Amino acid sequence: GLGVQVARQAPPAPQAGPELQVRRLVVAAAVVDDLGAPRRLLAARRSRPAALAGRWELPGGKAEPGESPEQALHRELREELGVRVQLGAELPAADPAGWPLAPTLVMRVWWARLVDGDPRPLEDHDELRWLGADAWESVDWLAGDLPVVRALLAAR
Ligand code: C5P
Repeated sequence: GLGVQVARQAPPAPQAGPELQVRRLVVAAAVVDDLGAPRRLLAARRSRPAALAGRWELPGGKAEPGESPEQALHRELREELGVRVQLGAELPAADPAGWPLAPTLVMRVWWARLVDGDPRPLEDHDELRWLGADAWESVDWLAGDLPVVRALLAAR
């Protein structure tokens, strides 16, 4: 044959429509005692909204437009816990966009260690707890945080 190759027609690009949802980014921290050899992990119990009250999460929150994820995480930890942290590596998720929380929310998570301040539940939390090395799964994590905690355990 002449070796002429005919490119297969690419499928049509999806049209942007009302079904195309932009996911808000949530950033959270795995605050640990030692980035090199983590033993204790900081868990925060939500006090609001009612549907999430009493469940535990990695502290963090929504990134605001114009903020980098890292800036948002520093701000959230200052507002919620009154601390300054040093961020370590990001915990990789299967989807590079992050860990799915809901159809409209995706979460990215960084290891972190305290550099200033004693964590206090200043906003949205009513209790903080340092979980010991064998107790990282011992609290009732939010559904979206549980796979993250398991990945932290596997990675530590
Ligand atoms: O903290 P904030 O209310 O800004 O978080 C936005 C949403 O992200 C919450 O409604 C919660 O469902 C979710 N979230 C989560 N796990 C976290 C932090 C936030 O599921 N560690």
